[in-house]
Amino acid sequence: MPDRKTLILQGIAASPGIVIGKAFLMEDEELCLVQKEISKEDAKKEVIRFREAISKTRAEMIATQEKIYKTLGKEYARLSDAYLLILEDPLITRDVIKKIAEGVNAEYALFRILEKVIHSFEMIDDEYFRERKHDIQDVGKKILRHLLGKERRVLADITSESVIVAHNLTPADTISMRENLVKGFTTDIGGRTSHTAIVAQGLEIPAVVGLRNITGQAREGDVIIVDGNQGIVIVNPTAEMLENYRREQEIQLAQIRELEKLRDLPAQTTDSHRVTIAANIDNPEEVKSVLSHGAEGIGLYRTEFLYFNRSTLPTEDEHYENYRRVAQKMLPYSVIIRTIDLGGDKLSHLGLEGITVENNPFLGLRAIRLCLKYPSIFKTQLRGILRASAEGRIRLMYPMISGIYELRAANKILEETKDELRREGKKFDENIEVGAMIEVPSAALTADLIAREADFLSIGTNDLIQYTLAVDRVNENVASLYEPLHLAILRLLKTVVDASHNAGKWVGMCGEMAADTNFTMVLVGIGLNEFSVSPAQVPKIKKIIRNISLLEAKALVTEILNSTEREVIIQKIKRREFKGTNI
Ligand code: PEP
Ligand code: MG
Repeated sequence: MPDRKTLILQGIAASPGIVIGKAFLMEDEELCLVQKEISKEDAKKEVIRFREAISKTRAEMIATQEKIYKTLGKEYARLSDAYLLILEDPLITRDVIKKIAEGVNAEYALFRILEKVIHSFEMIDDEYFRERKHDIQDVGKKILRHLLGKERRVLADITSESVIVAHNLTPADTISMRENLVKGFTTDIGGRTSHTAIVAQGLEIPAVVGLRNITGQAREGDVIIVDGNQGIVIVNPTAEMLENYRREQEIQLAQIRELEKLRDLPAQTTDSHRVTIAANIDNPEEVKSVLSHGAEGIGLYRTEFLYFNRSTLPTEDEHYENYRRVAQKMLPYSVIIRTIDLGGDKLSHLGLEGITVENNPFLGLRAIRLCLKYPSIFKTQLRGILRASAEGRIRLMYPMISGIYELRAANKILEETKDELRREGKKFDENIEVGAMIEVPSAALTADLIAREADFLSIGTNDLIQYTLAVDRVNENVASLYEPLHLAILRLLKTVVDASHNAGKWVGMCGEMAADTNFTMVLVGIGLNEFSVSPAQVPKIKKIIRNISLLEAKALVTEILNSTEREVIIQKIKRREFKGTNI
């Protein structure tokens, strides 16, 4: 029997698979701050404490810089020079010491001085310098953590295979798990279609989110089972539970091996209706897994991840190199590169005005809106994509198009960019296809107009569902209201698919609904041409498609579109489980 109590927690299944490991607890980001009055005598001690915090911060930054140098190279390592300069700046060090001498504790003095410095940066006209305030804030937080003796543990601290237990993880945290020993993760908050969950699926790391208080229930080093299929987490499992789950792991491995046999077979129904199954990626390293799982292309490359964990914008050459590499490896298949979708739950620390301070970031300056507001950032990426299109089969796609005018505005910038490249004699695919994501209800309702001017449509259900049903995709409190089978969603999907076909264009789906095997038959019946899913889901979807007929899929759609009973709809879908497909 384990010494500590066994806890079985139900959360939201965010990334499939089962993992058993030791808990690594990550603290929350928030640091609390108290003002204390101090005597002259204590002021000296406070200054010493402050100087020590500065030296610890410096040592930490240099260690990180060395690590970056080894893993990513000189160019990236240099990015942290700016942080070191801020740390040495007398505007901060000298003034904090002066403030302490007035009789306040070091934390409070630092807070006040940072506030003053940040305010003076906000007054600067030049946007670039103005936005450096975020670097100052970051450095300030690091010093503060040392003063409070509350270093936030970072993933790089992990020395043995672990399961992360955190209140929340950002998509940027998750993407850095690639280089670490993270075998799975669990969080207090979050939703099934958050980008943190999506990245975990790409990395094939099992995850359960929305557990409410696992950080208060698990302790460092506890044995944890993460069942990412059912959304269950067991802290300190019994020997019997461990054995059952180990057996389950073996069964799943055998199923995966079985599915590998489908790799080179077409995604074709029993009555010869062919669809395409492509994969979603957010990093070039995932191409290997895309090909090994038998995907016929990349249906969504989430390029905003290029902007994470850094403090400068990617250059045109970085974009170009990155896309060229992916496109060449994917040949003869095509790659749909989505222009950046920053904002929402994908904030980057690039200090762009507006995206870090919004009250409703999902309704704010996100995706194509951000690109239209900052055309030079947009053009840099477009130039990279266009140049890479000369060396592979690249298609381009805009996120969060809300109507025809936005598509035209984006295309206008695209045409200007093409003209610039022509003038410079740089090669690109003159016939590059340009698609629009349909993920805002206003776009779905006007899909007929958009389809006329786009080469293809791709339905982003993660957002389409959140915006149509008014359910925040990352909020565990409303997760049960996030219903892909809501009739409003099914009607919208049909509207979009029909509009696209009427305009003679193909239509895909790259949201998580396409990856859920429960919905495959409905989506085939609605007429979807392409499914784009995380690489590991590709064979599962293919298996279902190879077991159904288009005829019965269409009949199912007619039935459920005419049913107003939620339970009846769910039953109709469940009745159609297929032999051997309950994976
Ligand atoms: C979507 O919204 O369904 C989608 C694919 O885009 P993202 O998840 O990156 O918002
Ligand atoms: Mg989206």
